[in-house]
Amino acid sequence: MSFSVESLQNQFKHFRMSETSKDLPDFLRKAETHSWTYQEFLHELLSHEESCREKKMIERYLKWAKFPYQKGLEEFDLQEQRSLSARQLKQLQELSWLEQSFNLIFLGPPGVGKTHLAIGLGLAAIHCGQRVSFISMGELVPLLKTEDYSRKSQIQLNRIRKADLVIIDDLMYMAMDQHEANLFFQLINHLYERSSIILTSNKGPEDWGELLGDQGITTAILDRLLHRSEVIHLDGESHRIKYRESVF
Ligand code: ADP
Ligand code: MG
Repeated sequence: MSFSVESLQNQFKHFRMSETSKDLPDFLRKAETHSWTYQEFLHELLSHEESCREKKMIERYLKWAKFPYQKGLEEFDLQEQRSLSARQLKQLQELSWLEQSFNLIFLGPPGVGKTHLAIGLGLAAIHCGQRVSFISMGELVPLLKTEDYSRKSQIQLNRIRKADLVIIDDLMYMAMDQHEANLFFQLINHLYERSSIILTSNKGPEDWGELLGDQGITTAILDRLLHRSEVIHLDGESHRIKYRESVF
């Protein structure tokens, strides 16, 4: 009994092995040229499908993450950021904090690399198969407030709630009213012990009360954020100002 390559391709497609389906003629040719054994042939085919799926997954996760820019940790210069040791950065890069659902809080003035570090760790997490969501506090509050009636907000918030790592950038650039602080608390409570949060802020937790308004809510939020967390203080000169681009 002989099978046409096309019908085999259709069978692979039926089992959702689209990459194998597409590249099957190529693999059959290679198998003949290199006299692959049956085992070798199957191994090559399955490895190809696996690596294509992984690549697609990473592309999908990168899209969902909504990073404002993509800069990896390899581009982070420790000579420029003396408050972080090479050992500390290596530990962060190993992502054991993520496995254990620990939160990271990056504090420091503008331009010292808080967002860059958060994105770099987010990228590392995606390459390890973790779902990541990046959002600035300024975008998060309007999403929470429109969730009841906006489909777009619902989709984005669902991704955030399902993420293994949620990066909330620039926590305290804006003051919140009680309703907003309450919605924010509910989100943090949902993520608590379920996923990791990386939070960046130019103000320390001691000042958060002032911006969140309600003392009770602030305490409840801090309680959950800080319970299992690593607080990292970054310092120094603003990288943006030091390497300011100028037309003159
Ligand atoms: P922050 O979030 O603390 O305000 P960013 O992380 O956005 O600062 O950093 C501002 C810019 O400077 C970014 O382009 C970032 O890549 C760069 N930068 C900051 N610190 C470093 C560093 N230590 N090494 C390389 N680039 C850095
Ligand atoms: Mg920033």
